[in-house]
Amino acid sequence: MIVLNLSCPIGHKFEGWFVSTEAFDDQAAQALVTCPVCGLSEVSRLPSGPMVRRSDRPERQSAPQMQEIAAAITRVIANAEDVSDRFAEEARKIHYGEADLRSIKGTASGEEAMELIEEGIMVLPLGAPEAGNLH
Ligand SMILES: [Zn+2]
Repeated sequence: MIVLNLSCPIGHKFEGWFVSTEAFDDQAAQALVTCPVCGLSEVSRLPSGPMVRRSDRPERQSAPQMQEIAAAITRVIANAEDVSDRFAEEARKIHYGEADLRSIKGTASGEEAMELIEEGIMVLPLGAPEAGNLH
């Protein structure tokens, strides 16, 4: 946990506890961080000694994490069944239990991918050809 010094748009200063600075950024982006005095959610982080020092650490840790993510993606792609242009159709079938649960890869238009994401289906865009990872 880290303590961040925060300020709302009209200048109330307060402290917030977060798992990481990234966690604050995420929550602030979703307007989940509010000023305890006035309730405004446009909260910004104030620079402070401890915060700056602490923010160094997650950045150094992020390199191996990125490598792990890249390795996981590579594994998913290697094991994924290639359904080529039936990607959107298959992804939907798997999501709604009409086909066996498995990772698939294939091509989908940007529009199709957006529809899948709106339906809560996990799609991982990987350039051309696009691939999806379904759990
Ligand atoms: Zn305020």
